[in-house]
Amino acid sequence: MHDELFKRARKAIPGGVNSPVRAFNGVGGTPVFVESGKGAKIFAADGRAFTDYCCSWGAMILGHANPSVSRAVAARARLGTTFGIATPDEVRFAEKLVSLVPGMDMVRAVNSGTEAVMTAVRLARGATGRDMILKFDGCYHGHSDAMLVKSGSGVLTMGASSSAGVTKGAVADTLVAPYNDLAAAEAAFARHGADIAAVVVEPIAGNMGLVPPVPGFLKGLRALASRHGALLVCDEVIAGFRFGFSSYSSLYGGVSPDIITLGKVIGGGLPLAAVGGKRKWMRLLAPDGPVYQAGTLSGNPLAVAAGLATLDALEADPPYARMAALGKALADGVSAAAAERGVPAFCQSFGGVFTIFCREEPVRSLADARRCDTALYSRIFHGLLARGVYTAPSQFECNFVSAAHTERDVDAFLSAFGKTLRCL
Ligand SMILES: *Cc1c(COP(=O)(O)O)cnc(C)c1O
Repeated sequence: MHDELFKRARKAIPGGVNSPVRAFNGVGGTPVFVESGKGAKIFAADGRAFTDYCCSWGAMILGHANPSVSRAVAARARLGTTFGIATPDEVRFAEKLVSLVPGMDMVRAVNSGTEAVMTAVRLARGATGRDMILKFDGCYHGHSDAMLVKSGSGVLTMGASSSAGVTKGAVADTLVAPYNDLAAAEAAFARHGADIAAVVVEPIAGNMGLVPPVPGFLKGLRALASRHGALLVCDEVIAGFRFGFSSYSSLYGGVSPDIITLGKVIGGGLPLAAVGGKRKWMRLLAPDGPVYQAGTLSGNPLAVAAGLATLDALEADPPYARMAALGKALADGVSAAAAERGVPAFCQSFGGVFTIFCREEPVRSLADARRCDTALYSRIFHGLLARGVYTAPSQFECNFVSAAHTERDVDAFLSAFGKTLRCL
């Protein structure tokens, strides 16, 4: 049935999917088509059920079809879903984020993480009058032109886009350094310091698999940016409100960014993201300032209702300690089982977010991640899938434990993983 759906999909939609990783190109096989979800479970069009560790790439922190979020969205839908005019709930949403995220004096709602980062970069350029930005290999900041750049073989490179259709000009001002390599960032500033508008970083990387920052990396970037008059942009589209009821950079990073981007969790499963930061920067946005940014559906009432309901639920019953404990049990179990059978894989995790890396050494950068055995990853992925566990269909992505996952789910995961290893 999914084969038939995928055939139809491929005729009408490029690659059969509306976002590339869904196509299973990284693992092979026919992608899953989901009909519905409830809590930690998803139900496919062909009748299969899975325990879901994708959770819409972390957006569904409360699990699927959370009753209070569903109620809030349904109630809002009856009252009209967009006006192109300001609404009271947008104010409440902004006030909530401002009160919870240190260094976020003001915030603007947008529709996607891509837009949030695009605006952050424009803001940094507008604020400093400089053109260049420094990003890190393996970090993903959405699909805007300037951010679609990767480095060559682990060394600092310039101007090589990782997508067709991006002009040389659009990436000429994007510098790339390896993640967790402060010396490379220092070298970039030594050479281009007077021209760098911003350092853009995932304070804990989630788009090459889960890669936490090494001690001193974020603080070093903060110091570098300050010394050279550049802005520090922390892209927390995954990390914000994922590891605690605030930003990762304030809870764990020990740094105060100039600009913070949020997405995924704060939208409660609807298209909603945000860019916020220090007042002196945020006031540069139109209509108060010269940096233009706008959106027909920005601060969309339906999305804001889902976001507010999600934040309210997280506040009323914080799931963070529980998610972290489940994530740790899962990661420890996976690593132990792989070691016991002599399979070169281990689980890298933090706070309920995890990646099974198919190599034996820790992964600190994209160069490390690229050394993984992706064929082995595919076999593990399909072994888990066949046993009712949906994980990321790519070695270079994270998995997410939600507030709806239980110890039984983790036991079932480890049982499926053990059986998968025995069948390799
Ligand atoms: C998902 C993601 C984005 C892009 O967000 P979209 O809503 O998919 O546009 C940007 N930055 C990071 C760190 C992300 O994980």
